[in-house]
Amino acid sequence: MTVRITVWNENIHEQENKEVAERYPKGIHGAIADGLIDNDLTVRTATLQEPDHGLTEDTLGNTDVLIWWSHCANDEVADEVAERVVKHVHDGMGFIPLHSGKNSKPFIRLMGTTCNIKYRHSGETERIWVADPGHPITDGLPESFEVPSTEMYGEPYDIPEPDRTVFISWFEGGEVFRSGVCYRRGRGRIFAFRPGHEEYPIFFQDEIRTVIANAVDWAAPTDGADAIWDEVKPAEPLDDE
Ligand code: ZN
Repeated sequence: MTVRITVWNENIHEQENKEVAERYPKGIHGAIADGLIDNDLTVRTATLQEPDHGLTEDTLGNTDVLIWWSHCANDEVADEVAERVVKHVHDGMGFIPLHSGKNSKPFIRLMGTTCNIKYRHSGETERIWVADPGHPITDGLPESFEVPSTEMYGEPYDIPEPDRTVFISWFEGGEVFRSGVCYRRGRGRIFAFRPGHEEYPIFFQDEIRTVIANAVDWAAPTDGADAIWDEVKPAEPLDDE
């Protein structure tokens, strides 16, 4: 089965900051999409500026996995669109918030917590450790790898206890962070991945592209079983009937 991906980006830093525009000439969404074209995937992109932020019922209905990058415009996402994303995750759509996408309305609604962190803009090195080496999202990765320059995110990270913690990051300044965490919500699979600050070319890095491609495979919906959400007759006869 071909996995249908929508890469969503608020697409604001690329418009307002010349350095980000030069780093990501096709936008952060374009770089993420380019990192996925080698795989058996259908990739489209959508941005905040489009009607319905490019996330219409029709688009989401034809999306197996939604990848999400956002930062400064999290509050500008319409509640109606955020709720639409949440509903599709409950129905089985995979959801992969990247970096400050952890502060997006859909992720916060799906987690039910603040998703707050501590952070620092210092360009320090991040070492990402594989914490769950049997997990398919780690396929093809070494035991650890570095992002040479990045923004720091530090614990505590106000999220529910993850189903699996796939990656833990250590930063040059001493902090640590659960940088790759998995959840199920309804039928949907969620993988929140920390790297991706816009001041660095992180979405061109091979290991980062490997993680995102693996996460798409992992988060893609499966058929599963039918479910009945209604008042029902007993599956076995009851004595008093
Ligand atoms: Zn950032």
